[in-house]
Amino acid sequence: MQALGIYVHVPFCRRRCDYCAFATWSDRHHLWDRYMSACRRQIEGLTRWGRGPATSVFFGGGTPSLLPPELLLGVLGHIAATLGVAPGAEVTVECNPETVTAELLGRYRAGGVTRLSFGVQSTVPHVLSSLGREHDPGTVVRAAQLAGEAGFADAYNVDLIFGSAGESVADWEASLTGVLSLDPPPAHVSAYALTVEPGTPLAAHPNRYPDEDDQARKYVMAEDMLSSAGLKWYEISNWARAGAECAHNLLYWSQGEYLGVGCAAHSHLSMSPSTSRRWWNVRTPERFCRLLETGRQVEAAGETLGPAERAWEAMMLSLRTRQGVPAEALPGEVCEQGLAEVRAEPGGRRRAVLTPRGRLLANEVSLRVLVPG
Ligand code: SF4
Repeated sequence: MQALGIYVHVPFCRRRCDYCAFATWSDRHHLWDRYMSACRRQIEGLTRWGRGPATSVFFGGGTPSLLPPELLLGVLGHIAATLGVAPGAEVTVECNPETVTAELLGRYRAGGVTRLSFGVQSTVPHVLSSLGREHDPGTVVRAAQLAGEAGFADAYNVDLIFGSAGESVADWEASLTGVLSLDPPPAHVSAYALTVEPGTPLAAHPNRYPDEDDQARKYVMAEDMLSSAGLKWYEISNWARAGAECAHNLLYWSQGEYLGVGCAAHSHLSMSPSTSRRWWNVRTPERFCRLLETGRQVEAAGETLGPAERAWEAMMLSLRTRQGVPAEALPGEVCEQGLAEVRAEPGGRRRAVLTPRGRLLANEVSLRVLVPG
């Protein structure tokens, strides 16, 4: 079966974290119903692509778990009824720990959700408040416990952020230890270096900008602690127990096909064996609703990727994963400098895979990749 991911963007949060540049709003609660109806309408239009059933569905945001579960599950049901959801499909919902209750997770489980992703970011109180997050470490412990009780023991992710102002190396170590000692422990951890996005409140405070050397030290610490706990890296910012890798994100990193539902959501479909098209929806929820309510398209812009662009992009994406790139695509000195190592694969193929040091310098290494053709 051809893999197909459906991403549903839920652009609502209780408040905005000051480093966040995502398409999300904290003053649009009145739009929840209308927005999810518009999503259902957009899903009906997606049948024109002749794709499906979905092998993964991902509700991201924003804070999807803020919504009443019937709204979110209504959209999932609509996807199943129109495009289809394949047996065994991965269905993920992003949750903020403070929004989680036993009832909510029970409803998700009964409604077909198979995986949760918690926006934890840190387990150290002063770091959480510096990031502007609303939860405390106890909330995370409780959310993990509820996830386990609702049947997600082997299927939940924790998102972490490192490098915020005031976070010491000991704080970061405490966050990693805190997450790894959750009961049940997460099967998947995403750890992202804090970045300063233009236009965010954080961008206006250079004294709070992350320090690159500090972040490098913390990345190596994450690699050491997560791999010792049995979570293996499979993309620069992602570690998982064997078999718990996120199927939906793997589609993004392998140029797979996905359709985006909701404002600011991106889509990508193959148009021929060597070309594909990527496009994205209008950014605001109001515009998204208005267009669908008046029978119009929600695409804001798009681009066609020809054979050369696809080959280049495939190499860039793969370099960032544990698949690596064909050994001949990296000049020998990259391995000599300890940035990548060559592994032999069954069938005699040789792949060059980034080392932890190479992952820290992935952007620089990517400039040295030789793309055939
Ligand atoms: S909860 Fe997540 S999506 Fe919402 S403002 Fe904070 S970082 Fe952004």
